[in-house]
Formats: sequence, structure tokens, C-alpha cells
Amino acid sequence: MPKLDPGAWWKEGTRQLVDLVYPWLCPGCEDPLEADAFPALCEPCRFRLYPLEAPFCEVCGEKFHGVVHGALNCWNCRGRELAFDFARSGYHAHELLRELIHRLKYGREIALSRVLGQLLLRNWEDRRIERHRDWILVPVPLHPRKERERQFNQADELCRVVAEETGLQRLMALRRIRFTTAQASLDQQLRLENLKGAFALSRKPKIIEQIEGKKILLVDDVFTTGATTHECAKVLKAEGKASMVAVITVARAGTPPLG
Ligand SMILES: [Zn+2]
Ligand SMILES: [Zn+2]
Repeated sequence: MPKLDPGAWWKEGTRQLVDLVYPWLCPGCEDPLEADAFPALCEPCRFRLYPLEAPFCEVCGEKFHGVVHGALNCWNCRGRELAFDFARSGYHAHELLRELIHRLKYGREIALSRVLGQLLLRNWEDRRIERHRDWILVPVPLHPRKERERQFNQADELCRVVAEETGLQRLMALRRIRFTTAQASLDQQLRLENLKGAFALSRKPKIIEQIEGKKILLVDDVFTTGATTHECAKVLKAEGKASMVAVITVARAGTPPLG
């Protein structure tokens, strides 16, 4: 049996206990759910999701409505130097999905990380992700104070599910060293300034040496302007010497789906 610290043991125990009760009900509507439903939502609730389909910005994943000719130049990344190679979200942060993410983060419904982690796998439909087998999963870190308050880091919980499903390695390569005010209330420019110097590499040399020259999949729940993931990617590349950083999130805020 692997040695777990008491915190991890408690989390693992809670997870198993929650798993016993939770998967049998659809988290979207609480109707009974087949145990092997994948993703773990009932069929009507799956239709309440809004997959983010092409065309979208090749850099930041922002959705475009209509026909696009030539290279995409989107309002979100125009004039910006983004440190990540590209970002991709599987769905729009809309209605049911937005509610599920909200319940995971603020309602502390940790069991929802399973279905949300499964939904993250939609990003493997993107050839740029699917064609590499050697990604390392790195969660966007929370500040330790916030993580204590929430009792878990939702991005890491999502990574855990993706690691189980794909067999990819998961590494806590980053830490958040500055407590920042809530990003939600800030515009793009202020978000960037608010986050400057907020992240650093792990203190553990053994972790740092594993990212040098490697392809990193930075994982988060929602992509808004990309300010957070830009800062993380900057550290992974400049200090960690990662060769590539792509961002995957469950959902994309910004341009809403049509209809
Ligand atoms: Zn349902
Ligand atoms: Zn863009």
C-alpha cells in the first residue's frame, strides 16, 4: 500500500466514500444514473452542455461564430504575447457546466471533479493534443491559503482524473507565491498586472528536473482571458525550461454559444 500523508489519506477516504453514494445520481438533475455512464451525466444533461466547436482562435481557443477565412486573429489575444503555445477548452462555460464548476469550487462538491475531469478529455479531439503521448499534466496551483480554505485544488483534482484516464504523469510543478485579489472583477489588463510574479516553480529539485525539455499540459477548470495560464506558462518555460506548454480547460468563458 502506498504511503499517504494523513491529509491525503483523509482526502482519499472521503473520495471513496463520496464515490459510493454519488455516481448513482446524475449531478445535473439527480435522476438515477448508470454506474458506467461516461461522462457521468445522464443523457438529457449531456444535451445541456455546449461543446466548443471550430472555428475558434488557434492561440487562445476563443470561439468565433460564422465562417472564418485565413488565420484567426481574435479580440482576446490581439496584440498580446502569450507564453503558452495554445489553449483549448472543450465546452462553453454556460448554464449546466458553469453551475457544475461553481458547485465544485464554491460548494466544495469534490465528487464533481470526476465528471468535470471526464469532460476535460474532449480536448483530445484536438490533433495538437492527441498526437503527443508524452505530455506532463501540471495543475494551475492555488495559493496555499486558498487551498486550505477550499480544502482542495480543483485543477489538481481534474488532473487526477485525467491522469487516471490517460496514464499521463501528473506533477505539481508550480506553486502560487502571492495571494491575489479575485480575478473575476478585473479586466484583461488588470488581470495581467494582478498576476505578475504570482507563480513560481516547485521548491523540489526532483520535480523541476522532470519538466526540463518536456511538453506540459497546463490544466485548469475555466479559461477566461488567459492571464493566469500565461503567467504559469511563462514560469514553466523561462525557469523550468519546458519545451512546450499547452493549456487545457473544461470550459471557456467569453463568447457564449449561439442559441
Ligand atoms: Zn441529468
Ligand atoms: Zn485568441
